[in-house]
Amino acid sequence: MKKKKIVIGNWKMNPETFKEAKELSEGIRKKMVGVKKTTAVVCPPHLYFMSLKPKNASTKLFYGLQNIAREAAGSFTGELSATMARNCGVTYTIIGHSERRALGETDDDVNKKVLLALKEGIKAVICVGESKVDEHAGHLTFIKNQIVTALKGVTTSDIGNVLIAYEPLSAIGAKNPITSYEIHQRNIFIKKVLCDLYGKAKAFDIPVLYGGSANAMNAKELVEGGEVDGLLVGRDSLKVDNFIAILKEMDSIS
Ligand code: PEP
Repeated sequence: MKKKKIVIGNWKMNPETFKEAKELSEGIRKKMVGVKKTTAVVCPPHLYFMSLKPKNASTKLFYGLQNIAREAAGSFTGELSATMARNCGVTYTIIGHSERRALGETDDDVNKKVLLALKEGIKAVICVGESKVDEHAGHLTFIKNQIVTALKGVTTSDIGNVLIAYEPLSAIGAKNPITSYEIHQRNIFIKKVLCDLYGKAKAFDIPVLYGGSANAMNAKELVEGGEVDGLLVGRDSLKVDNFIAILKEMDSIS
């Protein structure tokens, strides 16, 4: 059976005012009535999260976080634990985004965060992706290491709450995504790594998303051509109509 497509909006450190965040969140929620099949998640800044997330869970729009702490509890100034997140109704968290890795987050940090998120029943959206492609396939080894380390200790019963977001650094915040052919190749490689870890049946159930310069114009081609399960979207998740247009493109994939 085909998996439902999923689109995750990463708002990063935007927008600058709560008023704009509220307008964005409510605008998306209102227009979600036109979206029939696709799962949508938005990840606002932590500061806005509780005020944006509606009390009743009937909405089709899920709210997630952009990061969680690598420690379970204790004196860690400025951090938010997975347990706190679960208690506040968080269902998804992005982990290991390249912008956090650029700030010093390691594969080991990513693994600790993944284990804590899964322990709390939070879906872990693990970001992986190479910074450069080399002719000796070093980029594939790089991606493999990121995945294998991130999933160290993740059991077959918890793997159902894992999503992999493949985001080549060159395509993030850039003008162009990589081609759907390249996405397809990486997707096959990622599936092989997951098969080796969890067996074919489980591995094929793990959603693999693509992220990097996706928009309504290219979304369908990237997802169909890359045979991925959806998208992680930065810039185009910050405008109601653009985000909704991407969701509708996903809906149109049969
Ligand atoms: C991202 O930062 O994860 C991302 C995909 O950004 P953009 O869509 O702006 O390239």
